[in-house]
Amino acid sequence: MKILFVSPEITPFAKTGGLADVAQSLPEAIKAAGHDVRTIMPKYLSVLKEKPAMKRVAAYTVQTHNGLHSAVLWQTENNGVPTYFVDNEAFFNREDFYAIGDWNYPDNLERFVFFCKAALECCKALDFLPDVIHCNDWQTAVLPVMLKAIYAGYRQDAFFHPIPKCVYTIHNISYQGRFPEDHWPILSLPRGYYTNDFEFFGQINLTKSAIHLSDAVTTVSKTYAQEIRKTDFGFGLQDILQRNSAKLTGILNGVDYRSWSPDTDPDTYGIHYSADDRSGKYRIRTRLREEYGLPDKGDVPLIGVISRLVEQKGIDLIKACAEQILQLDTQMIVLGSGDSMYHEFFEWLRRSYPDRVGVYIGFNNALAHRIEAGADMFLMPSLFEPCGLNQIYSLKYGTLPIVRQTGGLADTIQDGVNGFTFFDFNAHFFFDAVNRAVDVYRNRPEKWEEMMVTAMAQDFSWNRSAEKYITVYKQLVGNFSSLT
Ligand code: ADP
Repeated sequence: MKILFVSPEITPFAKTGGLADVAQSLPEAIKAAGHDVRTIMPKYLSVLKEKPAMKRVAAYTVQTHNGLHSAVLWQTENNGVPTYFVDNEAFFNREDFYAIGDWNYPDNLERFVFFCKAALECCKALDFLPDVIHCNDWQTAVLPVMLKAIYAGYRQDAFFHPIPKCVYTIHNISYQGRFPEDHWPILSLPRGYYTNDFEFFGQINLTKSAIHLSDAVTTVSKTYAQEIRKTDFGFGLQDILQRNSAKLTGILNGVDYRSWSPDTDPDTYGIHYSADDRSGKYRIRTRLREEYGLPDKGDVPLIGVISRLVEQKGIDLIKACAEQILQLDTQMIVLGSGDSMYHEFFEWLRRSYPDRVGVYIGFNNALAHRIEAGADMFLMPSLFEPCGLNQIYSLKYGTLPIVRQTGGLADTIQDGVNGFTFFDFNAHFFFDAVNRAVDVYRNRPEKWEEMMVTAMAQDFSWNRSAEKYITVYKQLVGNFSSLT
C-alpha cells in the first residue's frame, strides 16, 4: 500500500509531545511491514537545527482564499522513511510551532489550511497517489474535506483517482482547532460545509469536520476510545463520536526501544543497565541527584516527573500532595514546562525543600532520558491521558509508574504488578497510591524488585500496533490488488 502520513510534528525535527514520537516510529514500523509510507510536516526553524541532509525535490504554488502561495518541498530520510518538509517562510519559519507561550498565532487557520493543501499538492508534484492519507490532530484535520470537496470535488482533479482514503487520528481531543466563524472564508468551502460539518457552538471546529469526513477515525488507546464518547472526556464532541462509533478504533501507541532502553541509552552518563543487572540504575541515580544539586541520600526513593505542566497532567494533585509526599522521606525531581502557575509552584517547592526537590523548567530530551533511568518512581496522575508515552518508557527503565487509571494509563499499568494506580481524581487517593509505592519500596524490597523485572520485560514496541493500523488501512482500501 502507499500511505502519506501527515503530521504537524515529527521527532527529531519538531516535538512538543507524544505525537512527534508516534509520527516518527509508526511510519517506520509500517514501512518495515513492506509498505510505501512517506511522511510530511511543515519546515519550521527547528528543522534546520537538526541539520538533516535534505534535497529540494519540488516547488509549486498553493491556491488559498487570498491568492497563490509558494511551497518548496524538501526531502530527507528519517530512519529510512522518506520525509518531506513544506517550506513557506511566512507561515513556518518560526521558533515556536503553534503559539508563543499562551498566545496562539492569529494566522494558525491559514497556516494549517495551507499545509494540508500543500500536502495534497505534494502528491501531485511527486506523482505519488496514496491509497491512504493518514492525518494526525487538528492541524491536519481539514485535509479530508479539502481532498473530497475541492480536489476530488468541484475541481475534479484527475490526479486523485481513485480518491485516497483518509484516516484521522485523535492524539488528544482537548485540542480541536476551534476558530471564530468569521474565519470561514479561509477554508474556501461552500457554506453548507460550515452548517453540516464544522459548526460547533457558533465556531469552526476542525476536528468535528475530520470526524465527519474521514473514512476511519482512530485514537491512541482502547480506553480513550471509550472515554471520548462520554461527556467528561469528549470536550463537547462526545455525541458526534458516539454517532460515528462504527468508524472509531482505539489502537495503543507503541514506543521505540532503540531510543528508550536502559542498556543502550546514550544520554545516561555512559552508564547502562538491564533487567538482569540493575546496579547501573543506582549509579545513574547518584549522578542525577548531583546534576540537580541534591544530596545523594542512598536508598531514599527518588520520584520523577516529566511533563507538560498543564491541568491535563494532574499537576494539581501533585501540588496538593507534594509536601506530604516529601514527608514520606522522599526526593522529587521535575522536568517540564507549561503554565506559569505550575512553574511558580515547583520553584517554590524547590526553595522550600532544597535537599529534597530538584526542578528544571524547560524542554530537555537528554535529561528526560536520565530521569527515566535514574528515578525509582514516576508520577503521572493525569486527569485524562489519551495514551501516554512516559509511563511506557518508565516501565522499560524499571521506574515504577504511579498513575491514574484513565486512557492509555489504564491500558498499560496494573496496580501491584508493574506500577501503582488510583481511580478517583482526588488528592486522597493519589497520595494513597504514592504511599503504597513508598511502602513497598521501603518495606518489601523483594516485591519491588519483582515488579521492576516484570515492568522491564514488557514489550510495547510498535510491531503489534502497526499491524492494527495496517488492518484499518486494508479495510478501507478494500482493493487488495494494490496491497503488498
Ligand atoms: P503528551 O503528548 O500529552 O505531552 P506523552 O506522555 O504522550 O504526553 O508524551 C510526552 C513526550 O514528551 C515524552 O516523550 C516525554 O519524554 C516528552 N516530554 C514532555 N515534556 C518534556 C520536557 N519538558 N523535556 C523533555 N521531554 C519532554
